Amino acid sequence: ADVGGIGMGLVRMVRPWDEWLIVWGYDINQPPPEVTPELATSVARQLVGDPALEIELLGANTWTVNNCFATHMQKGRVFIMGDAAHRHPPSNGLGSNTSIQDGFNLAWKLAKVVKGQAGVGLLDSFSAERAPIARQIVTRANQSIAEFGPIFEALGMDGGVDHDKIHRNMEARADATPVAEAQREALRKAIAFKKYEFDAHGVEMNQRYASGAVVTDGQGEPPFEKDRELHYAPTTWPGARLPHVWVFERSGRKVSTLDLCGHGEFTLLTGIGGEAWVAAAETVGAELGLPIRSHVIGPRRAIEDHTGDWAGAREIRDNGCLIVRPDHHVAWRSETLAADPAAELRRVLKSVLAR
Ligand SMILES: Cc1cc2nc3c(=O)[nH]c(=O)nc-3n(C[C@H](O)[C@H](O)[C@H](O)COP(=O)(O)OP(=O)(O)OC[C@H]3O[C@@H](n4cnc5c(N)ncnc54)[C@H](O)[C@@H]3O)c2cc1C
Repeated sequence: ADVGGIGMGLVRMVRPWDEWLIVWGYDINQPPPEVTPELATSVARQLVGDPALEIELLGANTWTVNNCFATHMQKGRVFIMGDAAHRHPPSNGLGSNTSIQDGFNLAWKLAKVVKGQAGVGLLDSFSAERAPIARQIVTRANQSIAEFGPIFEALGMDGGVDHDKIHRNMEARADATPVAEAQREALRKAIAFKKYEFDAHGVEMNQRYASGAVVTDGQGEPPFEKDRELHYAPTTWPGARLPHVWVFERSGRKVSTLDLCGHGEFTLLTGIGGEAWVAAAETVGAELGLPIRSHVIGPRRAIEDHTGDWAGAREIRDNGCLIVRPDHHVAWRSETLAADPAAELRRVLKSVLAR
């Protein structure tokens, strides 16, 4: 391809082995081309290298790499989410899931306000929580595109259109020379660095919210001990995602901590000695007209932690508690049993719900 700077087109499998998505560059300083069936067919033929190839064209249009995000996602009664709020290339596969998470964040808040269980102030937390994510993922996806550069460089693809030269540069890596050895090493390094696109769980899993819908009580954010983009660092620090851990029902059935929570309601998780939290949740839930689900996790309780994985992940004592929001993010935690659990839950929930 003689535009786009890298001298390459892109062929991406949709279904093995007969349905493909093909991307080809066009000069964005010129008006967009009309992508006729003839043009699309000729691009496919060039990329496959078969001038007689017959294709069935399902669709063709123009598309550009975007690098833009909304800095706030609400104006009065209007909210935006998904690609309308963050536009970026597909690198890191951040598009659909971020869009769905926008919806997961907003839906329960709207429901609580519409049902009269929360004040309208709760809705302000949508933009406070999701706009920083929009910035983060748009920046990451565009950085990942830029990080292909060293691979093309190592292959000797300098953005030119001299096919013979590109071919010679690529072939040179097979030579038995110090230069070729250095080229092979540079190529391996450049490909390994793409773990920031293809093996970077932290990018999504370490997303932590700070807003009026989270109460930290001054607890500082736990530091990241490993690279925060590559490695997920589970924590129950308020604002973080509830860690997934397998626990067990009395029947022996395995259930995720995530499935103990969510389903549109707040959930209280505690352990042995934390039963007073459960009673407090019933009292405060009745006062606020807010259903709160509770689980006591421990030996001989409805949910057991045979492996100790939950005890290792929860970052609270047996008689402490976590309040988990309907979207699986931790709203608040108490390391131990409070002197007046109902007063604590009342304070926290009224704050989170803008009551
Ligand atoms: C080539 C490519 C590869 C991708 N790969 C990945 C990937 O690997 N992983 C990933 O997570 N994401 C990927 N994505 C991104 C993902 O597809 C999007 O982020 C996601 O679809 C955005 O969802 P959305 O609901 O915000 O917007 P859309 O899916 O665009 O939905 C918007 C809808 O609104 C409709 N609409 C528009 N205007 C109007 C109107 N006036 N009235 C009524 N309806 C209207 C549109 O027809 C459309 O159906 C990729 C995208 C592309 C282009």
